[in-house]
Amino acid sequence: MGLRTLGQYHAALRDGRVIYWDGEEIADVTTHPKFKVPLEVAARDFDYENPARRDLLTYRDEDGEVANRIYQVPRTEEDLQARVALSRGLSIVGAVSSVYMALLSVKDRLAAVNPEFAANIERLWKYARDYDLRAAEVITDAKGDRSRKAHEQDDKDLYVRIVERRKDGIVVRGAKLHITAAALVDELVVMPTKAMRQDEADYALAFSIPVATPGVKIINRSFAEPNLNAFDYPASAHHSIPEGFVIFDDVFVPWDRVFLAGESQLAGAFAQALGLWERTGGVIDALEKAELFVGLGSLVVEQQGKERDAVVQNAIAELVCYAKTIEMGLDYALRHFEKTPSGMIHPNILAINTTKYYFAANYHQMIRILQDLGGGLTLTLPKEADLRHPVAGAYLRKYLHSKPGIDVETRMRVFNLIRDMTADTYGGWSQVVALQAGGGLVAQRIMMNRTYDMAAARAKALRAAGVVT
Ligand SMILES: Cc1cc2nc3c(=O)[nH]c(=O)nc-3n(C[C@H](O)[C@H](O)[C@H](O)COP(=O)(O)OP(=O)(O)OC[C@H]3O[C@@H](n4cnc5c(N)ncnc54)[C@H](O)[C@@H]3O)c2cc1C
Repeated sequence: MGLRTLGQYHAALRDGRVIYWDGEEIADVTTHPKFKVPLEVAARDFDYENPARRDLLTYRDEDGEVANRIYQVPRTEEDLQARVALSRGLSIVGAVSSVYMALLSVKDRLAAVNPEFAANIERLWKYARDYDLRAAEVITDAKGDRSRKAHEQDDKDLYVRIVERRKDGIVVRGAKLHITAAALVDELVVMPTKAMRQDEADYALAFSIPVATPGVKIINRSFAEPNLNAFDYPASAHHSIPEGFVIFDDVFVPWDRVFLAGESQLAGAFAQALGLWERTGGVIDALEKAELFVGLGSLVVEQQGKERDAVVQNAIAELVCYAKTIEMGLDYALRHFEKTPSGMIHPNILAINTTKYYFAANYHQMIRILQDLGGGLTLTLPKEADLRHPVAGAYLRKYLHSKPGIDVETRMRVFNLIRDMTADTYGGWSQVVALQAGGGLVAQRIMMNRTYDMAAARAKALRAAGVVT
């Protein structure tokens, strides 16, 4: 109990979990080369002995013990700010473990309908906190034909559902797709992907189980091959994490691990709560990327001698506007936080949805700007091995010279980062992630319309139109 060492985390991953990747069944994720970089990513959050990070990574929990801050329930604006500061350096494995914040934000509403399920949330959050566990956000169903409801699909398992209710628990079947880091966590926290109607009650389902529970199988893929050269792939050599199809093949879930089992009126609340915390993480990550884009744009034009050009200055200003607007949206969301009845505070829902939407809807345009500034070298720059070759390297140094004071190797690294982030596998992955992760654009549009003070806006318009005084 208490903070885990990296060794203890790895030992916990050797629990007989069923993992597939690229046609291979992987018996031990901790020794397989495909998981080398993902495990290095996850290791960042176990840096507890580092005095520079310890205060940010940990807090004193409600029982006086030192715990990982991902489990801290924000009760003040400072707590929320600390959470954001933590998130800026957190691995994606730590970031998705924030799923407990989503559960805790619906706990009060759930308590009014089923106090035992609400108590399960409280107990499993404490359990995860006390044992320093990692958990995945397991939400998105396969969904089949989007125009039909869950129970109307050709195959009833296209949304995860209850197939049997027993005295000691439920048996569930189905699959959740695209689940970030599923193979590298301890717990799978499963929630409905959308609101469910009464006739979809078997799909109004939420629970948490260990990854090695019998019947759970995870099929993985990642944007990055193992062993990428960090000079040529400065982002994806370090950032890779697998997403997985998580299959529930008649999995037994005991009642004390169930949060929702047919209470269809609450399915939407779970989905929305997760959306808020997931999008908050998305906005924090967006800010990191947007700030990098400004830096890369500024560097690449300087290296090419274009920094005085008015058109180029306009383009850089667009990148600055993008980064600053995201930063201000995040800041507003934190300052105008909202509170649940039991005193947990969370970022402003409208502000987070607006900012996530702005980020996602404009992301491809920012990439266009950066690629336009970079020119063809964004794609055709030879690799590090050629730079180190005595003959080829000499030519590269000669023909990649632009002006005094610009180092060729630095120039190559800047181009490599632009390509890796925008034009290579990781770049393509990031473009889809901007649009889809945390819910597609439509999910944010729905939330913006639902939370904006429409009555005030309508009254204002009626006054301005002279209809009312
Ligand atoms: C890299 C990555 C990581 C992810 N990680 C996670 C994770 O950790 N956990 C998790 O649960 N999910 C995760 N997701 C899933 C993500 O939340 C979904 O991809 C997203 O919500 C969109 O759902 P979908 O993929 O099923 O697409 P769809 O729902 O099919 O959406 C595709 C398009 O169809 C439209 N559409 C959908 N339904 C309808 C309809 N009824 N009528 C008209 N148009 C419709 C949408 O608006 C959208 O434009 C991840 C996704 C990616 C790409």
